[in-house]
Amino acid sequence: MSETYARIIIDISHEKVDRTFDYRIPQHLRQEITVGTRVLIPFGKGNTMRKGYVVGITAKASYDPDKIKEIGGIVTDGVSAESRLITLAWWLKEQYGSTMNQALKTVLPIKQKVKPKEKKIIRSLLNREQLSNALKEAEKKSYKARVRLFFALLDNPVIPYEIAVNQMNLSASAIKPLIEKGDICLESEEIYRNPIQIESQEEKRLRLNPGQQIIVDSFNRDYSEGKRDTYLIHGITGSGKTEVYMELIQRVIEDDRQVIVLIPEIALTYQTVMRFYGRFGNRVSIINSRLSAGERFDQFERAKNGDIDIMIGPRSALFTPFSRLGLILIDEEHEGAYKSETVPRYHAREVAGKRAQMEGASLVLGSATPSLEAYTKALRGEYQLFRLTERAKKDSSLAEVSVVDLRQELKDGNKSIFSRKLQMLMEERLRKKEQIMLFINRRGYANFVSCRSCGEAIRCPHCDVTLTLHNNSRLVCHYCGHTIPMPSKCPSCSSPYIANFGVGTQKIEQMTKKMFPQARILRMDLDTTKGKGGHEAILSAFAEHEGDILIGTQMIVKGHDFPDVTLVGVLAADLSLNTPDYRSGERTFQLLTQAAGRAGRDAKAGDVIIQTYSPDHYSIVTAASQDYEAFYRQEMAFRRLMKYPPASGLLTIQFSSRNESVLTETAAAAGAFATAIGEPEQVQLIGPVEASVYKINDIYRKILYLKQENYDILIKIRDQIDGFSENHPELFEQVLIQYDFS
Ligand code: ADP
Ligand code: ZN
Ligand code: ZN
Repeated sequence: MSETYARIIIDISHEKVDRTFDYRIPQHLRQEITVGTRVLIPFGKGNTMRKGYVVGITAKASYDPDKIKEIGGIVTDGVSAESRLITLAWWLKEQYGSTMNQALKTVLPIKQKVKPKEKKIIRSLLNREQLSNALKEAEKKSYKARVRLFFALLDNPVIPYEIAVNQMNLSASAIKPLIEKGDICLESEEIYRNPIQIESQEEKRLRLNPGQQIIVDSFNRDYSEGKRDTYLIHGITGSGKTEVYMELIQRVIEDDRQVIVLIPEIALTYQTVMRFYGRFGNRVSIINSRLSAGERFDQFERAKNGDIDIMIGPRSALFTPFSRLGLILIDEEHEGAYKSETVPRYHAREVAGKRAQMEGASLVLGSATPSLEAYTKALRGEYQLFRLTERAKKDSSLAEVSVVDLRQELKDGNKSIFSRKLQMLMEERLRKKEQIMLFINRRGYANFVSCRSCGEAIRCPHCDVTLTLHNNSRLVCHYCGHTIPMPSKCPSCSSPYIANFGVGTQKIEQMTKKMFPQARILRMDLDTTKGKGGHEAILSAFAEHEGDILIGTQMIVKGHDFPDVTLVGVLAADLSLNTPDYRSGERTFQLLTQAAGRAGRDAKAGDVIIQTYSPDHYSIVTAASQDYEAFYRQEMAFRRLMKYPPASGLLTIQFSSRNESVLTETAAAAGAFATAIGEPEQVQLIGPVEASVYKINDIYRKILYLKQENYDILIKIRDQIDGFSENHPELFEQVLIQYDFS
């Protein structure tokens, strides 16, 4: 009888996880040992027994079978969180096409050999009354930073120094006089690197409205009956989804189970996080990209030890090693950031579904603009669908949205970036001291430089993109970071007539200043938010009325509540429409709907102006009428026609290489192979074509698209192509192949 071997990692948290050892599986354990099983193995010279995890099973040992030892036994003290995560890693590898190492590195945080740092905290020395007086005093003197601090201290006697500096925008020089006066003191604490520690727990529970109550009741009924399901909450911005999440969390932690809450990084603001802390206190932890690897590791340790019940964070929080997981919540479920950009290219929604199923947990998705994927599943009955169609706060109503045709503006002789209607409303709001948001719906900016004589744009020599002008002095590549000073003449024809084109946030800021010299303007983009907490600082400055107009990209449409914003202007809605991506219509609808949701959060009526060159495009028309259903129907018709997800499965295979001719040959060979095996399976094949950015960092990229309704067929084909590449090392030696399912 043939032998089978187990590939085992000894210590998942310490060393590099890619070190595995082969062990023979004894006959009597063959049934029981699978990926994720914890086993005892004789290790090292002395053959001391150590614990390890099985991460793979194979018939072919990776070294001399005579030297391979046998597994000693199975560890039986229950299924650990790690075992489950390793099984999940196996699923990731199979599903998305990666190596086991890549999958393991995704699900397991690696121990950093650093000592827990000392953390500084700010402790208030004042009692509540003194604090209110200090607050009033600071308000009178317009010490904005102090107001923020005192205000926060009213609810939380202790505030981490880091939060004060990064998120509340307090400088050391603002803190020092307060210490000298004895208002606050600064203490150091040796702590588990817990990024936030708050002592009080004051957030009151609101009385739910009927729409919210229906969701909570349904969930609770299912939960009590032991039914674990997936729920989609389609609720407009401000309809009280977060309030519902908190009730569901409450139910689950009362049952002594744990909860993971995913929130896109850009929406993980102080305001949002504080709501969860206010309700659940120190049982909450948070991870975000600003944490060091060590801090992240510590958060996961605390979760494993059962010190916390709720983990809030972006995509990677999904792998929190809770052992009694009861609920996974995904807010803003439609967000692109839930899709991993590195291998394995998983989508958090799908992995959450798998993890919830493995661990007997419920899954709740929420969005004002559900992804087509989620909504389709809900309509098919795979998810329970709930709707919240009204704003939760009394007196708050939806904004009035109007679409302005920019072609008509031009015809009528208005060449400004502001339509006459937007200009008029801006003047009026500035007069009334109400706030305005100007929104450019694109990632980054397109401030490229081109020559008026020969028409050439200045491009990155390593990447197939134009360089972007920063501060009128440097040209920067947004893909590889390549930087050159702004040239004084055209590199191609030496003409001195070169200038920047395209609308960037900086440019808009200048034009706004010119048009409204009396207005105070804040700008938020990659440049102004570079520093730690820069993003948060600008948002809170705007919330404190330190500006009348906030200009920015999609970053400004998330997170904060600005009750005094009564006008939102979308300057050119077409920008996100004209991207080479089948999701551009969906993204445009989402961005516009979100932008519209920013106006009129409070009692004051709001206006939203959408300026566009394509006023008849359904994404714009339906966003203006705030009609998700109508958008969904039209977009799905397009997806069905074009066989794009979710109407069909789409496998994107990317080939990349430094050697262009080798790349062309290899991609063509793989394409021919895929056509041959795909045809009988009715797979539709497109390509290989050049990627929309063909060259990045001197690496050329080609893409092959495979469409087929049945995912399993695509996975089968992927495996065959993988086999093909292994059997043809001569073709693939210099070519990297990557898979992406959507
Ligand atoms: P969403 O997450 O859908 O954007 P939130 O939960 O943030 O909505 O609620 C929006 C606002 O309405 C918040 O200020 C919240 O405190 C308030 N709110 C939510 N539910 C209720 C309720 N049942 N009664 C009164 N106010 C509510
Ligand atoms: Zn030129
Ligand atoms: Zn570049």
